[in-house]
Amino acid sequence: MELNEIRDRLDKLDTALVEVLAERQQLVHEVARRKALDGAPLRDLRREEDVLTRVVERSRDAGLDPFFMTRLFREIMGQSVRTQEVSAGREQALPGAPLRVGYQGTEGAFSELAGRRYFGPRGVEVSYRGYDTFQEMLEAVHDGELDYGVLPIENTTSGSVTAAYDLLSRMDLALVGEEIQEVDHCLLALEEVPLSRIRRIYSHPVALSQCGRFLGGLRDCHVEAFTDTAMAARRIRDEQDLSQAAIASEEAGRLYGLTIIKRGIQDQPENYTRMVIVAREQATFDRAIPCKTSLMFATRHEEGALLRCLSVLAERHLSMTKLESRPRPRNPWEYLFYVDFEGNLADPNVSGAIQAMTARASFLRVFGSYPARTGAEARQAEPRPQVSVASRADAQPAEPARSPAVLEKKAYTLASRLHRPEDTVIRVEAIEIGGRRPVIIAGPCSVESREQIRACARVVKELGGHVLRGGCFKPRTSPHSFQGLGYEGLDLLVEAGAEVGLPVVTEVMHPADVGPVAEKANILQIGARNMQNFSLLKEVGKVDRPVMIKRGLMASLDEWLGAAEYVLAQGNQMVFLCERGIRTFETSTRNTLDLGAVPVVRELSHLPVIVDPSHALGVSRWVSPLAVAALACGANGLMIEIHPDPEHALSDGPQALTFAMFEALMKRIG
Ligand code: PEP
Ligand code: MN
Repeated sequence: MELNEIRDRLDKLDTALVEVLAERQQLVHEVARRKALDGAPLRDLRREEDVLTRVVERSRDAGLDPFFMTRLFREIMGQSVRTQEVSAGREQALPGAPLRVGYQGTEGAFSELAGRRYFGPRGVEVSYRGYDTFQEMLEAVHDGELDYGVLPIENTTSGSVTAAYDLLSRMDLALVGEEIQEVDHCLLALEEVPLSRIRRIYSHPVALSQCGRFLGGLRDCHVEAFTDTAMAARRIRDEQDLSQAAIASEEAGRLYGLTIIKRGIQDQPENYTRMVIVAREQATFDRAIPCKTSLMFATRHEEGALLRCLSVLAERHLSMTKLESRPRPRNPWEYLFYVDFEGNLADPNVSGAIQAMTARASFLRVFGSYPARTGAEARQAEPRPQVSVASRADAQPAEPARSPAVLEKKAYTLASRLHRPEDTVIRVEAIEIGGRRPVIIAGPCSVESREQIRACARVVKELGGHVLRGGCFKPRTSPHSFQGLGYEGLDLLVEAGAEVGLPVVTEVMHPADVGPVAEKANILQIGARNMQNFSLLKEVGKVDRPVMIKRGLMASLDEWLGAAEYVLAQGNQMVFLCERGIRTFETSTRNTLDLGAVPVVRELSHLPVIVDPSHALGVSRWVSPLAVAALACGANGLMIEIHPDPEHALSDGPQALTFAMFEALMKRIG
């Protein structure tokens, strides 16, 4: 076939794809109508999971990448949920079309992108208009020049947009929606020039602050604050100076014909801004739509006044998602509190809560309820793993006894059940360590290459594992053995985890590495050989990352819990333990797996305990039976070493499960 012919066929296929999506959208409207008639809940996570699971299966049969297809379908289904929210009378009628929507900035600004995401599915004509300042934009809403305004309220890197809160407190406006906008900053220039030739960079101050690390690494480059990101991009186009660059969105780059020199230059790879949709009047939403409600209040001058107001929410089981305080104008040293919580004003429990709070506050104003884009109800569906996990919960034995065993002088108090009777549950993204279901951590002993860790990541995810492991700094007996890929390995591990949506755990060996590794890894591992490296334990006690402490080769339970105590005493309460075998007289296995430790430690301590049978046995074929046993005696999870080609692994090959063995294990414990 000629290239032209191929392209023709591609164009036809693309047209067909668009037509299929249009047909899908028609059906989505129909579904929305039916659900509205039946009063059925709008989101059905199980159904979304079914759809994704089927997509994964079909994609695999068709030779398509299941992870790419999952991402694609999540976007499609996200759009479907938005469409259902706005169709079939779920939302009060929109003001007369075309809608006039304002944002701060110039065309291509992140707020404009968020507006397009939010209003796009409404199927009405929308005209967008940029304003120089938040205030001018909000005044236009207030004065009826605009139907809606898009206002950034908080960012996951730089925090709350205080100016936005202060304006909301002063102006009589309502909130009718929220939208999450991913903020991926790009360095944009006229053409592909080397970074070293850029002498001047323009962007909005907030964008500059989000890219502090990147900018700090540049030499002889002047950084200048500008009204907004898109306007900075426009300036680069207008001035035609090759030594200048702007930090802005990819879309702004496209709009002004610029080239991306580097993308993703923000300090935190996951950088999101939450925007609120501002209107003159509050809107009402069907109770079937998971909503948030926002309000602002000032407390009375009484002891415990703030607590008394907030406890209303707890008493009514309404989950607070945000609390912000701002100085109260004209009242020095007094504060206005802004609260978002999960709930819909259409629900009498919520309106009751507002009444009760009003009685306890000195002043309270409700901004309104709107469909939630963050929070428990708004979470994304996951395709189901390729082995069933339905019965896994049954594998959990009965609750451990609440009363601790012998209570003489112990090396620990914070780690003890006496200090905290309830189990500690550690949240890592959507996963719970110490929760109802056992956590499966799996991956290679060492990260060896991009291909190797990617292959492992995919298998772990597909089979229903929860966390990807991979050693980058290796505690090897001989200095002549492979010592790990260090920070380079860490980047590969994080990249592989992100690609399939798995958090990662890796070992830290030196106190100086704790901070930098904590920036990238989700969980820090203290290896068996470092269990009593007290300066290392203190260091991990100071970071905001869960810590997994492996039991030392010769450590008693008391010493092990003492090690956990070091971390807890520094402030970090997100500690869990990993039994990995101890040294005994027995030499036929690498170590002796002390499963008896599991129920004992679960009784003595509130900290979760997982089991690593790989390092205990040292031989792959013995790993699975002990993994099953570990869950049977109440372990909160497993850590399993796997490798695409164990025979050629650079470390711990003999104990690594092949992918087929790992699949068999996951089926067995499923
Ligand atoms: C590991 O898990 O990579 C490891 C080295 O284990 P341990 O510290 O238990 O020997
Ligand atoms: Mn290992």
